[in-house]
Order: sequence, then structure tokens, then C-alpha cells
Amino acid sequence: MRKLMSRGAKIRESIFNEFSRNFSLVMNNPHLNIINIDFYICPLCFDSFTEQHLNQAVENPLTIEDVPPKKLNGKPLLLTCKKCNNIRGSIYDSELSKWFKAYCALEGKGELDFKMAIDSSRTFKAKLERDVDNKTTSINSNKKNPYAQDNVSIMHSEGKAKVNFLFDFGDAKKIDDGFLRFAYLYAFYYFGYAYIFSTGGKYVRDYLVLNKNQELKPLIISDKLENFDQGIYKISFPKDITSFLVVFKLGSEITRNVGVILPGPKDEHIENFKFIDKEKIGPLKFLQIIKQDINDKPFVCYKLWQ
Ligand SMILES: [Zn+2]
Repeated sequence: MRKLMSRGAKIRESIFNEFSRNFSLVMNNPHLNIINIDFYICPLCFDSFTEQHLNQAVENPLTIEDVPPKKLNGKPLLLTCKKCNNIRGSIYDSELSKWFKAYCALEGKGELDFKMAIDSSRTFKAKLERDVDNKTTSINSNKKNPYAQDNVSIMHSEGKAKVNFLFDFGDAKKIDDGFLRFAYLYAFYYFGYAYIFSTGGKYVRDYLVLNKNQELKPLIISDKLENFDQGIYKISFPKDITSFLVVFKLGSEITRNVGVILPGPKDEHIENFKFIDKEKIGPLKFLQIIKQDINDKPFVCYKLWQ
């Protein structure tokens, strides 16, 4: 009789299958020809790894990273070491999920949990739901919470009240840093080590990994990108920007495009990048945009600036 597989072995096998399926996707990335893994450098910590680090039982194995996170419809894109991958999960993803959930609720998809207080009441939990077609917003307090119900009915009977709403849209700095991290990894995906070892790439990595360059303020653009495909663009106007725009499409039912500006690779591009002030330059214009499809031949980012 065939011996039944133990529960632990089954779990291990399914993890292995999942890993090998995704790993072949990552391996097929034509932009990372280095990945036939004599050694592989984690794009975040710059530690080097060998083929044995694909074995998930070693101390700090290579793991597949989804960019953006799977919850926001991201795809398995590249390898980072487990340590770096976990930092992402614990710091950025939860904040980003809060922000995106709130965005979806305001666009009419799903509910938004928040807290409210009426006049001098204690704060209590409530849910907000929007019907975008009928332009209505409904706020429902928890029916099982008599305290909330009492306060809501007092408000209704008196006809007016001072209401405080407390929303949690996620930590803005962590969300922006998370976007910058996606953009950096995406640039690695497209340009390979040519970008992350360049002056521009190192400037961003120092900020993300080593807490240096704290003057860097992630430049996130979240409007007027509706018609952009996910990908990397070169900004050519205003002329002195000499930077990339990395665009992500987040979500599936409700989608939102978010763009992140990354410095070009050369020394002089850093100086230009430092002086970009989103408030002062007004809306960016893309007079000339270079977009590279992922299935095209890989190119070296330096070529863009020659
Ligand atoms: Zn790492």
C-alpha cells in the first residue's frame, strides 16, 4: 500500500511546487540574464547568493518578490533574499493595503472601517460605504454596539451634532517609501545591475536600505496617469529633470495608476533629481516618452542618456 504523505510533507511539497512555478516565471525574465545563478546579488542588501540559496531550508534563502504586492495584483517579478523580503512585508505592505482599501471604498467598492465620535461621546467603530452611481455615502455604526446606536439616535433626534471622523489611511511615509522600493526593484527588473550599481541607483538604495540620503523625498504621482501602461518612461520635459517615471497599475476590479520618479543613472542626474520639487514644477509633461516592453530586447539604462 502507498504510504500516505504526512501533513508536513504535503505542505513542503506544495510550497516547493509554488516556488518552482514562480521561479520559472522569474527565470524567464529576459532582463536578468545573470540569473542562471552562479551567483546572484540581492538588489537590496547586495549580499551574494548561490544556487543552494534557492533551497528554502537554508538560513537566508532567495525568495520570490511580487512587485507590487500580490494583494494589489502584482506579479512575481524577481528574487530578493528572505530578510529583505520580510522587511517589506512587515513595514510597507500593511500600510499600503490600508491606503488601497480606503481608496477602493471611496470609489464604491467595499466598506471602509473608521472611528467616529458624536459630540462628547467616546469614539466607536463605524463603516462607510459609497454608492458612486447614486452619489450617496452611508455611514453605519455597529448594530451590536448599543452605545454607538444610542449616540447615533440622539444625533438624529436633535438634528445636529458635532461629529469627529477618524480615518486610518496608512502611514504616508511608509506608503511613499514602499512605492519607491517597488520602483527601484522595477528598474532592476528592466535594467538589471546596470541601474542598481549606477550612481542614481545607489542613491535610492542608500536611502531605502542604509537610511542614508534622508533629504530624498519620494516623488509619487497619483493623478493624470490613467492612460499609462505599467512600465518605465523617460521624462523629457521639463528638460532638466533627466529622470525616469515608473508607473504601476494597482488593483484589479478598481485600479489605480501610481507613478514614481527615479533619478537617471549618472552623477549629474542625481543633482537634477535632488532639485525636483513636485509642487514647483507643476504638472509634468511628457513630450517624449520611451517605453520598453518587457518582451523587447533588454537595454542598458545608460544608453537612454547618450
Ligand atoms: Zn537582501
